[in-house]
Amino acid sequence: MPLLEVKNLSVQFRTDGGLQPTVTDVSFSLERGEMLALVGESGCGKSVTCMSLARLLPEPPVVLSGEVLLDRGPEHGGVADVLQLGERALRQVRGGCISYIFQEPSVSLNPVFRVGDQIAEAVRLHRKDVSDPFEEAVELLRQVGIPDPANRAKQYPHEMSGGMQQRVMIAMALGCAPSILVADEPTTALDVTIQAQILDLLLSLKKDRGMAVILVTHNLGIVAELADRVAVMYAGRIIETAPVAELIAHPIHPYTSALIRAVPVLGGEHNRLNTIRGTVPSPDKFGRGCRFCDRCEYADSLSEEQRRLCREEPPRLRELVPSHACACHFPPGLTAGKEA
Ligand code: SF4
Repeated sequence: MPLLEVKNLSVQFRTDGGLQPTVTDVSFSLERGEMLALVGESGCGKSVTCMSLARLLPEPPVVLSGEVLLDRGPEHGGVADVLQLGERALRQVRGGCISYIFQEPSVSLNPVFRVGDQIAEAVRLHRKDVSDPFEEAVELLRQVGIPDPANRAKQYPHEMSGGMQQRVMIAMALGCAPSILVADEPTTALDVTIQAQILDLLLSLKKDRGMAVILVTHNLGIVAELADRVAVMYAGRIIETAPVAELIAHPIHPYTSALIRAVPVLGGEHNRLNTIRGTVPSPDKFGRGCRFCDRCEYADSLSEEQRRLCREEPPRLRELVPSHACACHFPPGLTAGKEA
């Protein structure tokens, strides 16, 4: 069984207007040592999906359904559905199995404690075998590339740059010895040169430690460089998933094709940037059928009967070529004879 298997995960928010379907029927798996990228525009449900894996969102107002099957290892009871776990087991999953780093490290770090103490606390909570957690914190700072780690461990977050703070967050996540690291837009708030350093660090941690990584990003350039597999999300659903090279070279779904066309090319021959018309609908405007319907330029070329199907029937995610699945009634990127 994979390290993580998510089956038909749905996340709804209870509001005055009723239940809002923020994430619907999301299924994916993650192997040991694999980097899976969750891609899409803001508001597509990427972060909500990731936070639901360790049930970080308050329930209620959040209502979860489906299964999140996680292999916690033999010492912690093996495979369990995270959505069914009690508080105590859930505390072990948070950090011990799944650790997170977020976009803004300055918000996640506690300003009144030295960074070494904050990392040591994570080590103390999750690794009973470590005799000196502060010494381990210094070692983790060294592993994430912080120079002079013994002295840096005694500093407070405000004495560090944004890039340095993100390295501290990664060291803290590693301090829990997780099997999965969720990196939610980890470089969006950083300068471009620092972004590259942090991404390199994530890649080397994945390789050296065999750690599985879920990378949440809206940046397809980053995905092409780092990820093994990609799942594209739109309006709370996964609409296409494939190995990264296959998805970039042969996108099938109109939304994925539009996302790839929208990536600016340095020195490209076109002066105008390609955009996708309209915006991602809010959950109360999702409608019955394909949620991309209002923005789909390809649908303009379809017959009225075909467009009716797009509007009224939600397309299922199905494997159209080996390892490449797409949720579209009339997949334009599928060349004749390629379907499995
Ligand atoms: Fe476009 Fe229809 Fe496919 Fe949706 S199902 S992406 S509207 S062609």
